[in-house]
Amino acid sequence: MQSVDVVVVGAGFAGLITSRELGRSGLEVVTLEARDRIGGRTWTDHRLGHDLEMGANWIHWVQPHVWAEMSRYDREMVRSPAAEEAYWQGADGTPRKGTLGEFMALIDDGQQLVIDDVRTAMPRGPEPTVGEIQDLDHLSIQDRFDALGLDPEARAANESVWVGHVNAPLDQVGLSSALRWVAATGGHWQLMHEASSTYRVVDGMRGFTDRIAADVPGEIRLNTVVTAITQTADGVVVETDGGEQILARRVVSTLPVNAIAGIRFTPDLPAAWQRQNAETVASQGTKVWLRAEGHLPRFFAYANQDAPLSVLKADFFCTDADGNDYTILVGFGPDHTRIDLDDLAGAQAAVDAFRPGITITQIEAHDWMTDPLSLTTWMTHRPGQLTRDLAELQEPHGAVHFATSDNANLWGGFIDGAIESGLRESRRIIDALG
Ligand SMILES: Cc1cc2nc3c(=O)[nH]c(=O)nc-3n(C[C@H](O)[C@H](O)[C@H](O)COP(=O)(O)OP(=O)(O)OC[C@H]3O[C@@H](n4cnc5c(N)ncnc54)[C@H](O)[C@@H]3O)c2cc1C
Repeated sequence: MQSVDVVVVGAGFAGLITSRELGRSGLEVVTLEARDRIGGRTWTDHRLGHDLEMGANWIHWVQPHVWAEMSRYDREMVRSPAAEEAYWQGADGTPRKGTLGEFMALIDDGQQLVIDDVRTAMPRGPEPTVGEIQDLDHLSIQDRFDALGLDPEARAANESVWVGHVNAPLDQVGLSSALRWVAATGGHWQLMHEASSTYRVVDGMRGFTDRIAADVPGEIRLNTVVTAITQTADGVVVETDGGEQILARRVVSTLPVNAIAGIRFTPDLPAAWQRQNAETVASQGTKVWLRAEGHLPRFFAYANQDAPLSVLKADFFCTDADGNDYTILVGFGPDHTRIDLDDLAGAQAAVDAFRPGITITQIEAHDWMTDPLSLTTWMTHRPGQLTRDLAELQEPHGAVHFATSDNANLWGGFIDGAIESGLRESRRIIDALG
């Protein structure tokens, strides 16, 4: 039986950072990844004739763990195109069109009111359970909107912006998510918008994760599904789908909360992990890439939260070998079951409802919600989950550690959180094992 100091399960951002830190401290580490690639929920794949981000895309310098890695690996960022036109669905469900400035004026009051109490509710971003959030965590974002008394047009527009952010119907997402994102951006909702959807990494996420992986001492073994983790008197036995057993002093799971039941743990997982896995976290949406005819104006569009697609943006413009102009669009929807990726007519109808005048010719996506290795998109909590479970989710259980963007403090659910969690758990293990 192979014997190492630490087995790290998963080679997404959390796993790569954990393995790098442990390996560089002199511990012997092996990283086991079920997929045939590294990156996890970041995945630069060739679709529609282009390298597209099927998972995470945007980063920002107010994300401190991301930015440290950007500096370390000499990564550059580029701005996503600014919109010239804005479209949104009015309260009666019909499309509206205006300028970026007109849309921002429509949502300005509502965006501020949703998070107006952030300074008392969550005064310090890196301590998201400290403050009045303890008394507010039972509220959903929908509850907050219901209490605001916005006029119907402003309310529809504001809700559509938030449903795009949190990737789920608003009555299922804790107000905590809105407060966390804004607490992480110093209380400024405009900066939160910029941080979560504006700048991307030059050379894509694959270029970024390849650089980190090149710095990981020890083997990163792909196509290796961990099936069982058993704690013994000597440490931990990690079993793979190939029947292999690896003995380790510690193991780090980087699986998302929703997917962790894919591994059999002995003894059982701590109660908070079992509870959240059974409940699932709130995020449940989809991200799609679309090809449309012609060179469209740069625009963004928002639809009401009951629509299959709630956000659509013109991303870039091309001409194919036959001289046909086309535009690549990116879209997001709050419920992955509402859109059938094989049904182009259905996708066209979803687009027509809030951004008329576009002809869609192709659609591509990865359904992260049915992918057994993720079963989630970017984590947002259900009401109550943050304050009830976050502290316990961060605690090691004997020789088993948990590093995932799902259990980060500052940017939980983001790449930054994945890196934070990897730094936290590697430090704990280095302290314990020396
Ligand atoms: C569509 C989409 C858009 C997003 N957009 C953004 C964005 O713009 N900005 C941002 O910051 N974040 C975004 N996110 C969130 C971001 O991708 C994640 O928070 C982050 O990548 C999670 O990293 P992680 O290492 O914690 O988890 P993961 O990346 O999920 O890594 C876990 C790894 O474990 C592996 N694994 C699972 N089970 C097993 C097993 N049994 N054995 C071995 N390996 C296993 C998985 O294959 C995976 O590689 C987005 C996510 C999605 C899905």
